[in-house]
Amino acid sequence: MSNGLHFRPTRAEIDTDALRHNATMARKHAGHCKLMGVIKANGYGHGAVEVAHAINGSVDAYGVAFIDEALKLRDAGFIQPIVLLEGCFSEAELPVCAHYNLQPVVHQQAQLDAILNARLVKPLAVWLKADTGMHRLGFAPEQIEAVSKQLENCPQVGSVTVMTHFANADRHQHPLNERQLDRFNEVCARTTPARTLSAANTAALLSSALDLGDKASQWCRTGIMLYGVDPTEQQEALPLLPAMRLLAPVMAVREVAAGEAVGYGSQWVATRPSRIATLAIGYADGYPRHAPNGTPVWLNGVEVPLAGTVSMDMITVDVTDLEHLEVGDEAELWGPNLAVAKVAEAIRTITYELLTRVSERVPRHYK
Ligand SMILES: *Cc1c(COP(=O)(O)O)cnc(C)c1O
Repeated sequence: MSNGLHFRPTRAEIDTDALRHNATMARKHAGHCKLMGVIKANGYGHGAVEVAHAINGSVDAYGVAFIDEALKLRDAGFIQPIVLLEGCFSEAELPVCAHYNLQPVVHQQAQLDAILNARLVKPLAVWLKADTGMHRLGFAPEQIEAVSKQLENCPQVGSVTVMTHFANADRHQHPLNERQLDRFNEVCARTTPARTLSAANTAALLSSALDLGDKASQWCRTGIMLYGVDPTEQQEALPLLPAMRLLAPVMAVREVAAGEAVGYGSQWVATRPSRIATLAIGYADGYPRHAPNGTPVWLNGVEVPLAGTVSMDMITVDVTDLEHLEVGDEAELWGPNLAVAKVAEAIRTITYELLTRVSERVPRHYK
């Protein structure tokens, strides 16, 4: 931005106190578990470096998807262990992992071969992933014993943490949870000696239905909870604080006669004389284009419905029932007044997608 000038009022306010509070809550829930703060995808859209700062005191390691995300944290001066949840994509990454103390997940044969054949200055801490039923990444349970032996006998490897990932941890009654946990416990019983394990994401950590066993030997990997969202269906709300407040100003207001349509495709039609406010946020900012009519937007103390197709830079909302409204008033797309979970439900997506897709052109303001 030339001369550092910066005017756009549309913004995402990031509450670093809320991040800190949520990390403390995660720490409490984790008990004697070690805690990995998952800050992949730019800290779920909140800014990885800023999130890493905010949660620093509560977590024992950071988790990211791939090495570039980890190096950004090293460049910013963080010295904590960082786990690469997708592992390495090429053998060229291994010396970089060793040098920067990055801990790759090993989930398939090519990654294993690369480590076994590498010549490294320092041994790696690796995470061995078992596929206990999600069928996305990981070695088959019956392979784990042999693979972990190979890793343990390899001079390039300093430690091995066996891990797995649940497919349905957010649904406490889902039968696959028990099956995955049983398979994982079998795998862990067969790998010797007893070592640290990691199965739980946020949902599994919060699930009372999943008995993860002795916590002292475990790592919990928690992401979404840090940002203020409980991903489970439990009734009792956790005292988490939303960390992101997405805001856009009203940039125009107009009266629309009954029978007139609003926006691309004319797919919202006024059934009465209506007032329409246009807000300066659109799908290029990460507000989903497929958000249907009626999706709630918080404006001047009430929820108003989206009216018309989401444009690239703008949306339109029906403010007929709003008493006070002026150009320049600010709408909250989600945040403390309108839970991102409620918006996600209306849009038929999940909170993770809404948060991570807030695009680069939306400035983050930290407080
Ligand atoms: C992203 C991720 C997590 C964090 O999941 P949340 O539901 O956000 O807590 C944990 N484990 C793995 C392997 C992941 O990829």
